[in-house]
Amino acid sequence: MKRMKRQGEKMTRWTQRRLDNVFREYNERYFDGRLKEWGAAIASPNALWVGFCEFKLKQLMVVTDTLPDDSEIQSTLLHEMAHAAARRAGHGYAFWEQIERLLQQDAPITLGFPEAPDNTTFVDIIPKKLKLCCKAMRKLEAQRSKFVKNDAKSRHLQTQRITDEQIVASFVEATYDLPHASVSDIAEAVAKRYDLFDVEGRPKNRWAADIISKGRKICQKTKRELQQELDQEAVWDAAVE
Ligand SMILES: [Zn+2]
Repeated sequence: MKRMKRQGEKMTRWTQRRLDNVFREYNERYFDGRLKEWGAAIASPNALWVGFCEFKLKQLMVVTDTLPDDSEIQSTLLHEMAHAAARRAGHGYAFWEQIERLLQQDAPITLGFPEAPDNTTFVDIIPKKLKLCCKAMRKLEAQRSKFVKNDAKSRHLQTQRITDEQIVASFVEATYDLPHASVSDIAEAVAKRYDLFDVEGRPKNRWAADIISKGRKICQKTKRELQQELDQEAVWDAAVE
């Protein structure tokens, strides 16, 4: 959850009263006062999160002590407010529609993996109509891929291009590894591994949809073959007896 510290950012003291004030200000300015029934509280540091949205109690929590600077505290508060305004948990389309609104209003939110925790890359994971989000994601993807390339280079790591055939082959491997899993479960596991889903858990583009469809077919075929082998073995066992 922790984000990169940016140069020149400062950390000042955060009290409950200050957080209340910032919450109220953001609610009026960026959410047209729609979060009136909600509150924000400072939470104790913990290993799991720096911000949390508790829907039942209509309570947002921010761990001000763990976050590196004021801008990250503001950003985390806005992230949690976006969950509250989206009215459902998770980082799917409803959440990202709120993020798009925040970007349109120039709200002080920085984006990164905390906003897309189920993905490993940033491109094509947000609906195209959310233009500012997509623009921000393209920038993040450029930074991410540059970092990965430089890191691999500095550590003398070999890089390998993953082909479509390799991904499809993974569906077969997964079918052998997880013989009791359903085709959908296998498709989901492989899709997650190769980042084929968008933030809502749907194929992120035509290419991904095509690979998943091929993968599902080959998975079904493999399951049939496995079952035939098992049936054949049963026949032989019966014959021996
Ligand atoms: Zn979140």
